[in-house]
Amino acid sequence: MILCQNLTKRYGPLLAVDDLSFQVAPGEVLGFLGPNGAGKSTTMRILAGFLPANSGKASVCGFDVETEATEAKRRIGYLPEGAPSYPEMTPRSFLEFVADIRGLTGAHRKNRLDEVYGLLHLEHVLGQTIDTLSKGYKRRVGLAQAIVHDPEVLILDEPTDGLDPNQKHEVRQLINQMSQKKIIVISTHLLEEVDALCNRAIIIAHGRILADDTPEKLETRSRFHNAVSVKLVDSSQIEAVRNGIEALPEVASTELDAQSDRLTAFPANGQLPLAAITDLAAKNDWEFSELHLESGRLDEVFRTITGGASA
Ligand code: ADP
Repeated sequence: MILCQNLTKRYGPLLAVDDLSFQVAPGEVLGFLGPNGAGKSTTMRILAGFLPANSGKASVCGFDVETEATEAKRRIGYLPEGAPSYPEMTPRSFLEFVADIRGLTGAHRKNRLDEVYGLLHLEHVLGQTIDTLSKGYKRRVGLAQAIVHDPEVLILDEPTDGLDPNQKHEVRQLINQMSQKKIIVISTHLLEEVDALCNRAIIIAHGRILADDTPEKLETRSRFHNAVSVKLVDSSQIEAVRNGIEALPEVASTELDAQSDRLTAFPANGQLPLAAITDLAAKNDWEFSELHLESGRLDEVFRTITGGASA
């Protein structure tokens, strides 16, 4: 369990974390979402025991991150932003060094290191200095150091930032694999990452929590929730189709995307317009090349909630 109570952190006059309180339970993969400068990294550093808060308390698995830092850190794996490490070391020497610091010895040390090399596909680069590795491999080395001691809690600051789509996919698969047995907190400004990984999202801006919910529930706050988008086989019918759909009592309004010729019908308060639209299409012999029921758009919810905030 992670527990944060009224955490506050100032840098001089700047209030970076403002009276933040939340809990994270086992099985939760929490996405920490917010615009740049929202206070995500600062909160994670406090949780990982790398930065003291000005006031408030944080504990991990029952251990206070400040007053019982050693016990708390034993249970935490932390990937700092940018995954810094020692560029002149090789992954092997770096990870052996981390294993020593983490107190791993004997056969357990060797077995665990072999397991971690395998999990992160590091076998082929173990002897190469870290500064000569690609960004993707550097990030894997960063993740490897975070999991060497098989911690109960993983705190990952923008784990896929700067990676190409294939590397992002690989890192996400790995995080998904580990998520069954751990508490994971991930900071990101990538909304697709929240969809891919998280079962809970906290949206923060200016150091304060603005929303705390499942990604699915957050999506229901979007005006696209239950909207229906269609594309016509014969686009010359578009005006007639638009007028017909707009006249349905289940539909509040429509929007036409001129670039894609996609027509979106937004539901009237609490209505589900899908069935009415398909019935109307059948009656009028309209042929759709696409028919799509929208679940809601997280990016739109994010922009609405944070009001386009950034530091
Ligand atoms: P995020 O991770 O959400 O981008 P940060 O926690 O890095 O946000 O930063 C929150 C605010 O604190 C920002 O305005 C940032 O400029 C400021 N900040 C972060 N670290 C320091 C520091 N060491 N000294 C002064 N200001 C800082």
